Formats: sequence, structure tokens, C-alpha cells
Amino acid sequence: MPEFYDTVKTLDQTIPVDYYLPGCAPPPDLIMNAINAILTGQLPEKGAVLAPNKALCDTCSRNETKPEKISMAEIKRPWEIKIDPEKCFLEQGVICLGPATRSGCGETCIKANMPCRGCFGPVEGVVDQGAKALSMIASILGLDDEEKMTDEDVEKLIEGIVDPAGTVYRFSLPASLLRRKRME
Ligand code: SF4
Ligand code: SF4
Repeated sequence: MPEFYDTVKTLDQTIPVDYYLPGCAPPPDLIMNAINAILTGQLPEKGAVLAPNKALCDTCSRNETKPEKISMAEIKRPWEIKIDPEKCFLEQGVICLGPATRSGCGETCIKANMPCRGCFGPVEGVVDQGAKALSMIASILGLDDEEKMTDEDVEKLIEGIVDPAGTVYRFSLPASLLRRKRME
């Protein structure tokens, strides 16, 4: 039997990685761009991510409906509501990781009326995608400014995030700075 580890590592924590092609799975146009770059000798600097360096929100067709300020007073799961196919998910109370995720997928999930789960990873400069997503969620949870929330309200709101680690770290837990779950 091979040795078992008590942690899961990313590929680049294990072997040197020349280039990254994000996505689950990477879309054909990005694969084709990468092959063309190899064949024409136009690869960027080693270690680059071969995808646009913009957040998904910046290219999302629903961006215009995303309000400047969002106050999410209740978190809804996609199957709990009839989702408006034109409106930003966050505006509808559904968690979407578009603000914390790199673009380049062609908004596949958004076009299928499902929120982004973050499979493209973070944009350049963000070390921990889950922490970025968590900070985004924390900044929009709550009632409007003038209303005060009780501790019970806060607890109820947070309970609305079923599986918080799975929500923000679905594709990036091994790269998290937190690294592991605290066990009893
Ligand atoms: S949060 Fe999601 S639905 Fe809203 S603009 Fe960003 S990617 Fe689009
Ligand atoms: S919308 Fe998000 S989860 Fe869906 S393919 Fe694009 S990056 Fe991946």
C-alpha cells in the first residue's frame, strides 16, 4: 500500500507547473489558444494562467443588474426559488462566486441559470479564492443600513449557507491558507 497523507496538496505543491489552464474542465477555446501559443512560440512567462485576468462579474451578461450595494437578508439555494434568468444571482439572494472567480469560461453556468461555483479559480494576485469569496459574502450579508440585526438574525442568516467550506472552497481547498479543518 502507498503511504497515506493527512492532507491533500495542489499539483504545484507537488511538482513544478509550467502553465495553468483553468476550468472544470478547461473549455475548448482556451485549450486551442494554448496549443496555438505553444506552436507559434508565443507562450507568456512561465507560471502564467492561460485565461483572461478579469473577474467573471466583469464579463457576465447579468452584470448590469448587479446593484452597487447588495444587502442579502436571506440566503436561498437555487432550487428554492424561481430564478430570474436576466438578474444577478446575488440580487436574488443566491450565492454566486463570480466576484471571486476568473473569467474565460464563457459564463457556462450563468447561461444555464445556475450561479458560478468558482471552477476557474481566482484572478491574479488573489492567493486564497475561498477567503476572497468569504469576504465578498460577508460584505453583502445583512439588512439595509438603518435596520439593526439581532444575534438570532445573524445566526439564522449564516445557517442559510449550507456547507460553508464546500461553498467557497469547492475547487480550491488544498490551496487554502487555512489548509485544514480543526478536529475535536
Ligand atoms: S455575481 Fe454572478 S450573476 Fe452577478 S454579475 Fe457576478 S457573475 Fe454575474
Ligand atoms: S460559471 Fe463559474 S463554475 Fe461555471 S464554468 Fe464558469 S467559472 Fe466554472
